[in-house]
Amino acid sequence: MLNTRLYFAALCCSLAPTAWCGAPFSFDSAPGRLPKNVVPVSYDVAIVPDADALRFTGTESVQLQFRAATATVQFNSLNETLSHVLLDGKPVKSVTSSDEQQLTTVTLTKPATGLHTLSFSYTGKIETQPQGLFAQKYKKSGGGEAVLLSTQMEATDARRMFPCWDEPSFRAFFRLTVTVPAAWATVGNMPIARRTVHGQSATVSFQRSPKMPSYLVVFTGGDLREVSAARGGTQFGVWAVAGREQDGTVALASAQDILADYNEYFAYPYPLPKLDSIAVPGGFSGAMENWGAITYNDQALLVSPSSTLQNRQTVFSIQAHEMAHQWFGDLVTMGWWDDTWLNESFASWLAAKETAARNPKWRWWEQEDESKESAMAADARATSHAIEQHVTDELQAANSFDSDITYSKGEALLRMLEAYIGEDVFRQGIRAYMKSRAYSNATAADLWNALGEASGKNVPAVAAQWIEKPGFPLVSVTAACDSSGNRSVTLRQKRFLLNGGSANAGSANAGSANAAQWQVPLRIRTGTASPRNVLLDTQDQKAEAGRCDEALSVNADAVGYYRVQYDPGTLAVNTRLFPAAVDGDRIALLDDQWALVGSGEASLQSFLALASAMGADRDARAWQQIVRALAITEYAERGSPGHQAFAAYARALIKPAADDLGWDAAPQETPDVVDLRDTLLRDLSRWGDQATIDEARRRFAAFVDDPGSLTADAQTTLFTIVAQNADAATFAQLHALAKGAKDDTAMERCYAALARVRDPQLARQVVQIALSDEIPPQANTLGLRLIVTLAREHPRLSWDTYIANQEQLMKSVASAYRPLVVAEQTPAAYWDALPLDQLEAWVRANIPSGASDNLARGLETAHHLAAQKLALVKAADAYLATATHAAR
Ligand SMILES: [Zn+2]
Repeated sequence: MLNTRLYFAALCCSLAPTAWCGAPFSFDSAPGRLPKNVVPVSYDVAIVPDADALRFTGTESVQLQFRAATATVQFNSLNETLSHVLLDGKPVKSVTSSDEQQLTTVTLTKPATGLHTLSFSYTGKIETQPQGLFAQKYKKSGGGEAVLLSTQMEATDARRMFPCWDEPSFRAFFRLTVTVPAAWATVGNMPIARRTVHGQSATVSFQRSPKMPSYLVVFTGGDLREVSAARGGTQFGVWAVAGREQDGTVALASAQDILADYNEYFAYPYPLPKLDSIAVPGGFSGAMENWGAITYNDQALLVSPSSTLQNRQTVFSIQAHEMAHQWFGDLVTMGWWDDTWLNESFASWLAAKETAARNPKWRWWEQEDESKESAMAADARATSHAIEQHVTDELQAANSFDSDITYSKGEALLRMLEAYIGEDVFRQGIRAYMKSRAYSNATAADLWNALGEASGKNVPAVAAQWIEKPGFPLVSVTAACDSSGNRSVTLRQKRFLLNGGSANAGSANAGSANAAQWQVPLRIRTGTASPRNVLLDTQDQKAEAGRCDEALSVNADAVGYYRVQYDPGTLAVNTRLFPAAVDGDRIALLDDQWALVGSGEASLQSFLALASAMGADRDARAWQQIVRALAITEYAERGSPGHQAFAAYARALIKPAADDLGWDAAPQETPDVVDLRDTLLRDLSRWGDQATIDEARRRFAAFVDDPGSLTADAQTTLFTIVAQNADAATFAQLHALAKGAKDDTAMERCYAALARVRDPQLARQVVQIALSDEIPPQANTLGLRLIVTLAREHPRLSWDTYIANQEQLMKSVASAYRPLVVAEQTPAAYWDALPLDQLEAWVRANIPSGASDNLARGLETAHHLAAQKLALVKAADAYLATATHAAR
């Protein structure tokens, strides 16, 4: 699952036999709510949906194995009414269903053992949000509205479509039959076995699935078309609503490449006969790895002439993520939801590896550094949580799908471990893990043991702390030089915190002194030599570190998930040699130095000295980190006397690189350079560079005269600059472009630009647009995104709109996620819209009582940002008051 919704109530290790945690998988000791004495072997489910009435009828027959004699059979159900309940064709004693418990209990006339068949008829509800079987409305390209049906089962919503043992360790065979309008196309996990047309309807039966958990069942039906291909014994299809199927051709080609790579990587060929990818128009956000038929938000799968490079990168990397799940998650499933990271961290890591390997010009690992930074910012909070955590209710379960921790921190951690034990050995371990756990479940222990056996290293000891503890270390480096100029360093570690405080004095979550220790796989590079691995597992550890006049990186290529603080002398050497350093080392140094400015452990001047050393260099990721820091400082300075001077300073700092790149892409330019140009131009405009704004206006006027004159990539930045500085007439032109856009990709680009507008009157128009029904049904998350984007220029207007229209704006957010959005993301987004005590009071009044951990995280971020604003203004004013920068 990626960026998508989560809805489940779960119990975990705290309620499980203690031996289960840290032990290899065993069905009997895996946590869960359902008794294990009766298990499903295979399901036959047939449903007849009525999309207009939002209801369906169904019949179900489950072959059960009674592992011990019992007269009670218990399984999950929700919003369903069962009738004609029979065991082996004979009536049972009683049936009770509870929607509150999400359980049905069948009592038999006498205890049973061995194999039996439970059968029944039932009715259920078609949802309008992506949970269980849902209806999705969309605007057709030729005009008019249509509807399709699709499913979203993870984590525990299969029970909304058919009563079942809805926990990941209950693997079974599934055979699905659906009766739909005869004109519809239908897609399931497996190929169609039979299709019978009767009048206006068709009954479609899919082949039996392999043994799998219920959360991987899928069905999609509607006016769909496909593009298809066959390669290596697998049939590939990319499905979209009629008229858009040709936009699936890029994804179709990528799917074949990615599957070939993964077959080789795992040495375990993709086991199903076909792999479909389905573009669901809007509503459904992200993507879901259903075995054999992955569902995607259409924006995450289709590539049209309106798509930018960034759109294409999103499509490839999300495909790589969901396809990695066909092994990590589908073939081998975590035993219980507390090991969600076994699915998500791995899919994120392998997707990044595959995206980087297939698209070397994208410099993908450098791009992924941005999500690692986001994870580290979240994880530096004293209130952060571990990757693996005890889950006892729905909200904690939602937290376990935290995109910063479960996805990005997990991805970074696996990359660091891979670098530590070696790429080939790591792959060997993964292959052994797949082979031994195929068609079954696993725990973290199974994985660490496989990697430990492959590498001969004590992987469990190194890995466990990173999974089980929140946070990460700050490694301090103190160098000493001998008389011949050879350098040795002393390495120490402590937990890195946003406010720079000691972990020992922090909150309960920060843990004891011992709890702040990690085994840190360092990669040390001197000069531009190859890095070497050093495991930091004691305090005051010494290491040789080249010569004192060479640059030093203790996180070579920014692979590690930790921060580094160099002593002043070493930092001075690194700053002097910064322009010639290896790109990845420069990125690590910029990342760390900026984080240390934030925590009060480094001066702003030390960061700006590195930034100034960039000159006209073209390393996109390094620049992104610099302009991010400058933008935060410029924003902090708004309303202060020093603002103009700082904006001028920031413009001057990036101007040489921007001038060097110009406005127009050179032939053969690499994607990261295209990206860098956009970044620099947008920021020059944001910081008031009149020449940039004038040129953007000239180019926009030419575009309006000749819309074919600009590529999609060139439009994004241009629209943003023009919208930012728009008057009413220009705003109207952009608005007309949004309304007349050829497809949703182009439409979203135009609306997103509008939300950057600076003029207060025009900002009010953005509010009206975001709340109006000119936004089509398949773009139902756009309204909230526009209002949140508006907060950058108009925090108070955005806030007032946000709280006055909660119901409408939050419609696109799944109910299980709402407390998370309100408690955690709202304070972080609106920390400067109103006084923090008022903000906190509103949030407290609008969240359930169980969301206090989320609120603590949101407030910690908000307070940090507010404190950082004051500190930055002071530091920037002081810096600009000195003469040293005057020449810049
Ligand atoms: Zn995923």
